[in-house]
Amino acid sequence: MPDEDSGHILLIEDDAALRGVLAGNLERGGHRVIVAADGIAGLDQLKTPGLEVVLLDIGLPFVNGWRILESLDGRRQPSVIVISARGEEADKVRALDLGADDYLTKPFGAGELLARVRAVLRRVRPAEEKRQLVSCGDVVVDLGSRVVTKAGKEVRLSPTEYVLLAELARNAGRLMDQRVLLSRVWGPSYAGDRAYLRTFIKRLRHKLESDPAAPGVIVTVGRQGYRFGAPPEVDTERR
Ligand code: CA
Repeated sequence: MPDEDSGHILLIEDDAALRGVLAGNLERGGHRVIVAADGIAGLDQLKTPGLEVVLLDIGLPFVNGWRILESLDGRRQPSVIVISARGEEADKVRALDLGADDYLTKPFGAGELLARVRAVLRRVRPAEEKRQLVSCGDVVVDLGSRVVTKAGKEVRLSPTEYVLLAELARNAGRLMDQRVLLSRVWGPSYAGDRAYLRTFIKRLRHKLESDPAAPGVIVTVGRQGYRFGAPPEVDTERR
């Protein structure tokens, strides 16, 4: 098992000076780092076994970061943190839509970078849970093995998609406030960042709901939050 705080990271960044600084920061943070200076080298390095996190620049020679994200196609691993000078909400939403787990706008400090990487690693390697099945309709979440099935077939989820779904499933039938979900899944500084939650809920519904337009597994509750499945029936016949 790898050290709890050290990850296997691929850094795809064409700016040589920045690449050197970031790789140095990550190594001092205890991580193993491999680097790629352009999109083609990046796609090649993505085949490295055991990669846990990719730090992905968007503006890259040959193959840009958007196309690299598309090529990953929502794969479960590695997790992707986009690092980009483009700070607009639309770029952030686009990256999350394409399967990125997080988005860091340049410039950022070493502390911020290491905190984001740690947060992603926590989602990739969560604490062990007892085997517990939670279901809604034909969707079954196994909180022990982290396997999610729909109609008996495994559903491929990214680490962050899984952590969000597990948080809802663990609290099945209960309203989960948006701010609580954001801070539990992404961290306390994200509590107001609803774009993350909306994007990931949309992705989960697309994968899990029979009709994503009329969701029955992840239900929207007013403007406050979401609920996994139906609320528990109220026991009116007390004995
Ligand atoms: Ca660049």
